[in-house]
Amino acid sequence: METDQILNAVAASAQSWFSRRDTDRERDGLVYCGVCGVPRQTRFGGMIVPCMCRCDMEQQEQEKRQREAQRVLDAIQHSPLYDRVFDGSRFERDMFPDSTPSRVCREYVEKFDQMASEKQGLILYGETGSGKSFYAACVVNAMRKRNVRAQMCSTTRLLMSLDKWERDPIIQAVKSVPLLVLDDIGAERDTDYQQEKLFSVVDARVQSGRLLIVTTNLTPEQLEKPDTQEKERIYSRLLGACTVRLHVHGNKRPGIAREKAAEARRELLG
Ligand SMILES: [Zn+2]
Repeated sequence: METDQILNAVAASAQSWFSRRDTDRERDGLVYCGVCGVPRQTRFGGMIVPCMCRCDMEQQEQEKRQREAQRVLDAIQHSPLYDRVFDGSRFERDMFPDSTPSRVCREYVEKFDQMASEKQGLILYGETGSGKSFYAACVVNAMRKRNVRAQMCSTTRLLMSLDKWERDPIIQAVKSVPLLVLDDIGAERDTDYQQEKLFSVVDARVQSGRLLIVTTNLTPEQLEKPDTQEKERIYSRLLGACTVRLHVHGNKRPGIAREKAAEARRELLG
């Protein structure tokens, strides 16, 4: 085939997926976008072929960013070292459904829309093994069941991913997911570099105005009066965004372990 023929075939096939929009205008035999004013067609080797106007390019760029943000979320979620631990965290499996943390977290799910519009984030604090991550994961899983995109990330892992992957898509993911849980804030390494990364994550999230839940071993006093200025910058933002503070106490781990054992037994013995 001659080059001209090839070009004509390409142009004809490009023209075939071109579709007019209601807002389009026509000038000098070419179609122009009525929104941005940029031509949606161009002359090419004696033919008229479609091209992207500014709106098309912006949309393409936005779709690319969304795909990238989702890819990062998926990568974090499917990381073999984390998150799956919490896949099984459901309110139905809670050994202490009458406890305050359990009731508050279920209520939080029920009132999610209200919490989101009032920007009432949640801090779950308590000692290691108290069950705070369990409850945060229960909220995430309950919201997912209601088709709300929700993500739980180990804070340390998220900060590590900022070194491993491109920064922008991660920050984009942090900003865009409707519910984000940052698990175990305060356990990250205490270096300026780590604290600076943590600040960029927390700041991006808080500025997005979307709901944030954090779990931490730190007490409210430690959050209010941290020992460095950088931490104060981070924690003051956290406390501003997470207005509901919930103390989770009592050791849940044996309970969960017992339940897992019981479940395994049921599966084995019927
Ligand atoms: Zn346009």
